[in-house]
Amino acid sequence: MTANRRLRDCGRPAGVSDVALIQNGDHHRYGGLFLCGSGWVCPVCSAKIRFRRADEISRAIARAIEAGFGAVFVTRTIPHTAEDELRTTLGYLAEGRRWSANHWAVKQAREEAGYFGCITAKEITRGNNGWHPHTHDVEVFREPVTPKAYGKMCKEYFDKLNAFYVRQGHKPMVRGIGVKLDIITRDSDALGRYLVKLQETGIGLGNEMARGDLKKGRKGSLMPFDIAAYFLRTGDVDALKLWHEYERETKGKSVIRFSKGLRGQLLPDEPEASDEDLAVEGDGVEVGRLANWLYRRVVALGLEAAVLRSLDTGGFGALTELLTAYHLDTSGLHGPRQEINPTMLTNTSG
Ligand SMILES: [Zn+2]
Repeated sequence: MTANRRLRDCGRPAGVSDVALIQNGDHHRYGGLFLCGSGWVCPVCSAKIRFRRADEISRAIARAIEAGFGAVFVTRTIPHTAEDELRTTLGYLAEGRRWSANHWAVKQAREEAGYFGCITAKEITRGNNGWHPHTHDVEVFREPVTPKAYGKMCKEYFDKLNAFYVRQGHKPMVRGIGVKLDIITRDSDALGRYLVKLQETGIGLGNEMARGDLKKGRKGSLMPFDIAAYFLRTGDVDALKLWHEYERETKGKSVIRFSKGLRGQLLPDEPEASDEDLAVEGDGVEVGRLANWLYRRVVALGLEAAVLRSLDTGGFGALTELLTAYHLDTSGLHGPRQEINPTMLTNTSG
């Protein structure tokens, strides 16, 4: 269903090489697979990217607050209807952010508050009124934000973004909803909410929605993966069109970004990782291999997770049992020598 070639190849073995079985503590994973590294369209890579970025951000902000900086959580949206194309609302939101950030009144409000930089996360959901693009930022200031500075930023952020939308002939925002600012302190839950947002990758209850939810919707919103899952279950072409629109409009756009220099200031000892880097798994030791052809059989039968689970719980003995139960040729399983099943040896030599 995807038009994205990298996504199509994600999770496939690179070339014709074997797939490694890697053990890390009690858990096993595959090694040597191609990974697409997309934080938008890949359910596997985006979960890893968003989870790891959330961890990075929470450490950066904790460090900032400890060092006496101020931080404000800002959410920005754009009014929309079911007819609005994602291209339109996503474009106006991005342009509006840029335009208002360059407006003298916003610049002045930020300067007075001691603006230092920001971390931006973009999100797209779909609800009753169509696509709902929005951004969550953590803005960092050189000192704790005073009530006066906070009030001024609340006013200017809203007024200027709203003025931009109206100037473009777009619908005006509702005050108190279109732009929200929340001061983050050591014990406020604003950062926690932000991080939870980053981790919402969306394979959830939304999967169970009824057909009417897609067009008219119920209360709440759908994550793009809900739309994809809905198409896979029903073959509904409207859902496929929505998914393709989402793929098109998110292509090449960052999911989460630190403004220039901010990351280096807050996390000076950590090298910066790209989304592709974050999608790659971490530590572990190789404990065995699956031949390329055997791994492809495993995928065709939808057994990728079952293979790892059997290794987690019962080692190579359990994995051999699983493969045998599915009439798979275990000669393609190369485990640690002492655990190799004698029948496997017969198979390979024969
Ligand atoms: Zn991927």
